[in-house]
Amino acid sequence: TVRVRIAPSPTGNLHIGTARTAVFNWLFARRQGGTFILRIEDTDLERSRPEYTENILEGLTWLGLNWDEGPFFQTKRLDLYQQAVQTLLDKGLAYPCYCTPEELDALREAQKARGEAPRYDNRHRNLTPQEREAFAAEGRKPVIRFKIDDDREIVWNDLIRGKVSWRGSDLGGDMVVARSAEDRTIGQALYNLAVVVDDIEMHITHVIRGEDHIANTAKQILLYEALEHPVPEFAHTPLILNMEGRKLSKRDGVTSISDFKRMGYLAPALANYMTLLGWTPADSTQEIFTLTEAAQQFGFERVNKAGAKFDWAKLDWINSQYLHQIPATELTELLVPYWQGAGYAVDLDRDRPWLDRLSALIGPSLTRLEEAVAMSQLFFRETVEINEEASTQLQQTGSAEVLQTLLESLEGQSLDETQAQGMIQSLVKEKKLKKGLVMRSLRAALTGELHGPDLIQSWLLLNHKGLDRTRIEQAKA
Ligand code: GLU
Repeated sequence: TVRVRIAPSPTGNLHIGTARTAVFNWLFARRQGGTFILRIEDTDLERSRPEYTENILEGLTWLGLNWDEGPFFQTKRLDLYQQAVQTLLDKGLAYPCYCTPEELDALREAQKARGEAPRYDNRHRNLTPQEREAFAAEGRKPVIRFKIDDDREIVWNDLIRGKVSWRGSDLGGDMVVARSAEDRTIGQALYNLAVVVDDIEMHITHVIRGEDHIANTAKQILLYEALEHPVPEFAHTPLILNMEGRKLSKRDGVTSISDFKRMGYLAPALANYMTLLGWTPADSTQEIFTLTEAAQQFGFERVNKAGAKFDWAKLDWINSQYLHQIPATELTELLVPYWQGAGYAVDLDRDRPWLDRLSALIGPSLTRLEEAVAMSQLFFRETVEINEEASTQLQQTGSAEVLQTLLESLEGQSLDETQAQGMIQSLVKEKKLKKGLVMRSLRAALTGELHGPDLIQSWLLLNHKGLDRTRIEQAKA
């Protein structure tokens, strides 16, 4: 049966690229009735942080990417890797290399001067026992290198990219797999070996990961052979690109799932959008679906080889589709943290009906939850700033009369919709004022702008707090 895994390194918050890889793994596992495993690759002791692990677990959970096994932590499994290093040494497939960092630097410099790509020249591959002892006697600490033959051809049938082949000579020479046979302080050195040991031990059948791991896959295939284990299937997913067509990176601003969450993207909308980053459903016009729906038809046949452009406009559109389905009462609960974060006085127990009406009013114009802060400030603040357009409107003939009449009829009144409509009607009928003028003047006074959500509803919300009189008085002055 299918067993897949997501294996993030906790050296940063959950990244959109990792999350998208997690989505594809999850979809494949669910489609195949398989198992989705979470493994935290925390062997880089210098850069790994527990708060990043927290962030990753939280982000995956938030997105609905529930895992069936794990989280497993590589730092708890170091014995296994050490055993594998010993196996490679015992088989003569790995050896201690005593080169100093200075010697390796000098080698790289010389290669650079000759215009060659940097690679280890395997110079300590065939040291005699005496030579090893002599280096050790100098106090040199060896690293363990795994032999990679230059003339090896490594070929696999990638589930997304088809036949991929690499030459051993393109892998940078014999590769470091451990600092030493005994030393378990590890870091980067161990990376490829640890992945292979774990994928073997966790019975992973399909390795689905980013295209940036292709060279690692070539190296890892050699390690599977060395450890005498059949290789799993590989699927290398396309990279996520920015609008300029370059790999999406920190410089592109928002890249972590917690940032998307903070901006007010909804988990199912973001998961929906990530699914489309590289995959197309059978009905290519279908753009809105849940992860579960996507899982019913997910396969690698419709995953693109080409990079997937990250399209904010598309994400926003998908997010608004989800947002507009949410009933006002639920929306209120989603918006409360944003309102509170902006310093608005929100008392859910006391103001619930009023808040639900506010949610109902602004909901249809929201693309992201965070926008509710700007959209609803006029309902929370005492005063508004009157913009130029609105202030021009307030200087039109008739405007002052509209405001004065309203102020008089408002006298301490708490309005309902019929009464509000009635006041506008009587201005039109009795004072012979144009309805357009009445509405625009009222909107200008109440909101400081000429555009915005439904005027009557806005008025009623403000009236409930007695803010309509304040605003009209302010506008008249
Ligand atoms: N730890 C690796 C990363 O975060 C993933 C390795 C893998 O999927 O094999 O990129």
